Amino acid sequence: MEREKWVILACPPTNINEVLTGTGVPEYVPTVDHSLAQCADCGTDMWVGPNQQAAATRAPDATLLLCMACGIKETNRRNHPAVVGHLGGGGGRPRLPS
Ligand SMILES: [Zn+2]
Repeated sequence: MEREKWVILACPPTNINEVLTGTGVPEYVPTVDHSLAQCADCGTDMWVGPNQQAAATRAPDATLLLCMACGIKETNRRNHPAVVGHLGGGGGRPRLPS
C-alpha cells in the first residue's frame, strides 16, 4: 500500500506542554500505559498510547507513527481531506513526574 493511504497515528511529542505554553490548552499528562517512541519522520520523542501501539503492531505496513507536527504535515501533503478519529483510551492512571 502506498504511504498516502497509511493511517496516521498522531502522538504528542514529549515537549508538548512547552509547545502549548500560554495557549490555555490543559496540560498533557501521559498515563502509565503510554510508552516512548520516536516519530517515524523527524525522530522526536513522543508518547504512544496503548491503542495506538496495538494498531501499529497489528498493521505495521498500513500505519505511520508520527508526532503531531509531522502528522499535520503528512495530512497537508495528501490531496484528500483527513478523517480524524480517536482510538479511545486516555483513562489510565496518570504517569507522575519522577
Ligand atoms: Zn515528527
